[in-house]
Amino acid sequence: MTLPKPQPGILDITPYKGGEGAVQGVAEVRKLSSNESALGPSPRAKAVFAAMAEGLHRYPDGSNADLRRALGAQHGLDADRIICSNGSDEMISLLCAAYVGQGDEVLYNRYGFAMYPIATLVQGGTPVVADETNYTVSVDALLAKAGPRTKICFLANPNNPTGTYLPVEEVRRLRAGLPAHTLLVLDAAYAEFVTRNDYTPGAEMVGTHDNVVMLRTFSKIYGLAGLRVGWTYAPAGVVDVINRVRGPFNVNLVAQKVAVAALQDNAWTAAARAHNETWLPRVKGELESLGLTVIPSVANFLLIRFPAAPKHAAAADAFLRSKGLVIRPVASYGLPDFLRLTIGTEDENLRFLAAVREFLQS
Ligand SMILES: *Cc1c(COP(=O)(O)O)cnc(C)c1O
Repeated sequence: MTLPKPQPGILDITPYKGGEGAVQGVAEVRKLSSNESALGPSPRAKAVFAAMAEGLHRYPDGSNADLRRALGAQHGLDADRIICSNGSDEMISLLCAAYVGQGDEVLYNRYGFAMYPIATLVQGGTPVVADETNYTVSVDALLAKAGPRTKICFLANPNNPTGTYLPVEEVRRLRAGLPAHTLLVLDAAYAEFVTRNDYTPGAEMVGTHDNVVMLRTFSKIYGLAGLRVGWTYAPAGVVDVINRVRGPFNVNLVAQKVAVAALQDNAWTAAARAHNETWLPRVKGELESLGLTVIPSVANFLLIRFPAAPKHAAAADAFLRSKGLVIRPVASYGLPDFLRLTIGTEDENLRFLAAVREFLQS
């Protein structure tokens, strides 16, 4: 008897594990494990959400016209070249479904986002990993591994879980050095948090080159991770391809409407950015004064290196959990000495710092 057998590659996948939000036996938990916005969604977005119960029997607009128009207006982009998705995770999968087949290669950096190899293996493709330098993407290492089979090169900029970024000149150098048949996917999930002059999410590169796409999300600064909305700016040819592959109603009715309200609340987004600007350097500085190494981050999270046993990362994680502070172990990324902390509210950040101090000094 032969049982149903999955496609080649599927059983090589290590399932994605999201940040945890509960600790057994601890009633009050602070979740700092998934890079969600410390401030939560805009009050305007919450009001739209609350008003939507009546219309739930209706199908959503499968073309996402209102959301695409609002995104185009907000960012000065052609709405016809925007595609919306069920989080940007879905777009990572759709791009792989559309462009990657058995034997094809998908290139990304050593500590790149965990969804890239998963979406690649689902299609029977081969993940190809390029080494980093100082926990930062190396354009030279990526280019050295690009070849005739490289269908996609993913670049999370800023990168998760490291928080480091590539300046625009380096992204341009990467694009210029990749083969024309390689789609460069600029995953700018944290773009709205970045305040550096030499950073760009990459929309202008999409405008001038037919093999570049930019991914964005409402899951991070907009505080809508639970609703699942992402969007992509892409060349017309890629838009056409993805519109053939995606489900007709891949972004639900509520998500579309709430995302528009969140997008248009510029004051709320600015407040979330300002909160991060205050707390990111402050938490980093305090951790460094405790003797820990913290990777320089431009996003809303910090990758923190812990010393050797007994004060190692796993012990720190257990101690923090016992205090109800849930942050992210990143051993699955090949970073067993590190933990990743999402910047939280003032209260959460101070609790975290006090707990780390207690752990190191106990
Ligand atoms: C959080 C994150 C995403 C966004 O995922 P959604 O599916 O939009 O929630 C994409 N890429 C990176 C690098 C991320 O960290």
